[in-house]
Amino acid sequence: MSPLNFAIGLTGGIGSGKTTVADQFAALGASVVDTDQIAHSLTTAGGSAMPAIIAAFGAEFADASGAMDRARMRQLVFSDAGAKQRLEAILHPRIRDAALAAAATASGNYVIFAVPLLVESGTWRQRVSRIVTVDCPESVQIARVMARNGLTEQQVRAIMANQASRQQRLDAADDVIDNGGDVTALAPQIARLHDLYLAISKRSATNPAQCL
Ligand code: ADP
Repeated sequence: MSPLNFAIGLTGGIGSGKTTVADQFAALGASVVDTDQIAHSLTTAGGSAMPAIIAAFGAEFADASGAMDRARMRQLVFSDAGAKQRLEAILHPRIRDAALAAAATASGNYVIFAVPLLVESGTWRQRVSRIVTVDCPESVQIARVMARNGLTEQQVRAIMANQASRQQRLDAADDVIDNGGDVTALAPQIARLHDLYLAISKRSATNPAQCL
């Protein structure tokens, strides 16, 4: 069976718990393809996006090891929309190709693409059969990211302002995982969705047209 007959897109705002949720799906047997990890590997030393990044932005955007200077790039794209677009034009097609290649060789029961900005991206929305959103109140998101990344509330709010709203992610969702409470509340929700996705992926193996 081709796993791409049926693919889930997993999304959620920063700090909502996407990574925590993705790890639990993976533990149950799903193949998780994490586009954040792919983006990171493309821009590490020797990463396949580095020659294009250096050609577009200059050698000063690579650090001594040859990896992208993330702090410098973050500063640039935060204040320069054109630079952000140029960076995305380099990264997005490469992320898509690497993600699809990883999915094509995945051995799990079905594929979950973890895509932080899925709702913002028309192409990812088209590529998945179903969207699951990890949801929590904004105040909880802010507290988690302040604790995890050592950022100020203002810095977290600035990141959130560049993402879709909580309501937009809920509107786009076929399934919602509530991660506003204790982490132990996740397991039963994920087990239920895993059973559903297994059932749909089995159906899609025999009749792909019905599930896309
Ligand atoms: P994302 O990948 O969406 O940014 P993470 O899964 O990394 O989110 O979660 C953000 C932070 O909050 C991490 O430090 C994680 O351990 C923690 N976290 C996730 N879910 C919960 C929860 N239900 N209760 C408390 N902390 C949580």
